[in-house]
Amino acid sequence: MSSSEFPSVASSSSGFLQRPLPSIPPTATILGVKVHALTNAQTLALIEAFIASGQPHQLCTVNPEFVVAAQQDEEFRQIINAAALALPDGIGLLKAARFLRTTPLPERVPGSDLVVRLAELSHQKGYRLYFLGAQEGVAEQAAAKLKERYPNLSVVGSYAGSPAIEENEAIVQRILPTQPDILLVAYGAPKQDKWIARNLERLQIPVCMGVGGSLDFIAGTSKRAPVWLQRLGLEWFHRLLTQPWRWRRIWNAVPRFSWLVFWSKFKPKRPAALP
Ligand code: UDP
Repeated sequence: MSSSEFPSVASSSSGFLQRPLPSIPPTATILGVKVHALTNAQTLALIEAFIASGQPHQLCTVNPEFVVAAQQDEEFRQIINAAALALPDGIGLLKAARFLRTTPLPERVPGSDLVVRLAELSHQKGYRLYFLGAQEGVAEQAAAKLKERYPNLSVVGSYAGSPAIEENEAIVQRILPTQPDILLVAYGAPKQDKWIARNLERLQIPVCMGVGGSLDFIAGTSKRAPVWLQRLGLEWFHRLLTQPWRWRRIWNAVPRFSWLVFWSKFKPKRPAALP
């Protein structure tokens, strides 16, 4: 990602810092998974409020693949539904919410863009970031790229590690003394979200968010779809072309998700039980 492609806090949310902080918005429910109906500007304002509170918060970047996985993984579903914020990361969620006539989702809040916006906020406000996960060296490369653009960015630590339970304690001990305000975990879903849920109370970090492949995009080790494909809602198509071995995940994210949403609306309702 070149620095000119970085989204900007100022351009996306002009003046939001002056406005009063919004309350937690309502949720849309899609196949039993809750997603908050919020904008990028509201997300940033809430993140600032979470940091000011000092209390730990888990954020999930929900896309259709998460929703499909959560149909069979009850632990994952509960983690998303209990998250302080479940962000509408995928365009498919906006369409599904409209189709199901649940709470409308105003816009996509992509995790990858949010990571860059958090770097900008760190540059402006002195927030401390920690990057956990991704392949060896990727988090450091991502931090270096972001620092070129945001020189005051404070990345207080980065570590690839692993989501394996045997490594859990050592990683917690490594992060604790660095006292970050924001922890970004790149272990892919659902591992990253389960890792955060398991460690949230011990870490007491105000904002903990799973970020999937975002650090790879920023570091340049994998390429994100061009903006025009993202706008058309065809990021999945770019993934299919560039990472064809992921076809099963793309199948889950697009046709399977669409079918499940369609079926949930039109399946015959069970007759009410007789008194
Ligand atoms: N990853 C990792 N350890 C693992 C599994 C994944 O560090 O055990 C990293 C991987 O290197 C990548 C990130 O997790 O940087 C996201 O992986 P993936 O592309 O599968 O997630 P997605 O973006 O599709 O959620």
